[in-house]
Amino acid sequence: MKQSGIYYAVFTVNRLLPEAKPISKIISLDPNHKNLAYGVNTENQAIEIGAPFWLKIYDKRIDELKSKRDKLKKKSRLVEIYDHKGLPIGKQRWQPSNRWKKLNATLERVYAKRREQTKTFCYTVANKLFREHDLVAIGDYTPNGGGFTTSMRRAMNNRSLIGRFKEILSWVAIKSGKHYLEYSEEGTTRTCSDCHYRMENGLSPNIREWDCPNCNAHHTRDENAAKNGLIRVLRNLYKEDEEKSSLVSGSDHCVFQGASPRLQERENSFSSGHFFACCL
Ligand SMILES: [Zn+2]
Repeated sequence: MKQSGIYYAVFTVNRLLPEAKPISKIISLDPNHKNLAYGVNTENQAIEIGAPFWLKIYDKRIDELKSKRDKLKKKSRLVEIYDHKGLPIGKQRWQPSNRWKKLNATLERVYAKRREQTKTFCYTVANKLFREHDLVAIGDYTPNGGGFTTSMRRAMNNRSLIGRFKEILSWVAIKSGKHYLEYSEEGTTRTCSDCHYRMENGLSPNIREWDCPNCNAHHTRDENAAKNGLIRVLRNLYKEDEEKSSLVSGSDHCVFQGASPRLQERENSFSSGHFFACCL
């Protein structure tokens, strides 16, 4: 298949899924607009996963190319459309200028490079997380509205990075017999992870640190949110245990409220005990 001017071969491989491993070490990730995510694990360690610096460079280049290309739109010419015998069919179309075509091809190449590099980055982080943890949980954050400015949303790298990262986490979990899930992030930022007091009006996005008015605990925003995520995940796992439901195999991930329908669809498609590998 061809994508952005590059040819790809697609292979399908059927393989048995590895046996699901037991869960002991868990990490909860809180995606945010400054970094890719902030994580805390059940061994009380915290990590910050930065967004790759080169994304900004790509985005700047993409913006420049787009604006240059779009300015050339008015240089398009209206040309006749001919049939296979070389006769005009009485219809016309807009033909972009050669300069437009050249810029468009460059733009496609930059997009392709950005995609490849993003994929490598996400796999590297996901592999490292799953080497060290049995379950990786991530908040179902979507940077839509909610007081976020365009530049903040841009900095967060526009859903695409988080979205891609989540897909790859799920995929690495399936391949390694480990576990992945998304938890509902609702209220995780505004709730004190020590005493569970909830700030009624939430916390504005520019407040990075705060003190709980109820128990005086000092919090950094992202760490507190990730801790609440971990509490939520553990509570749900415990609940599942009590209900004696079988949890959570690599092929049968547990998805909490708020998980994307796409993910659930994917999971259903894996329930046959085989997985589909494709090289993109
Ligand atoms: Zn508190």
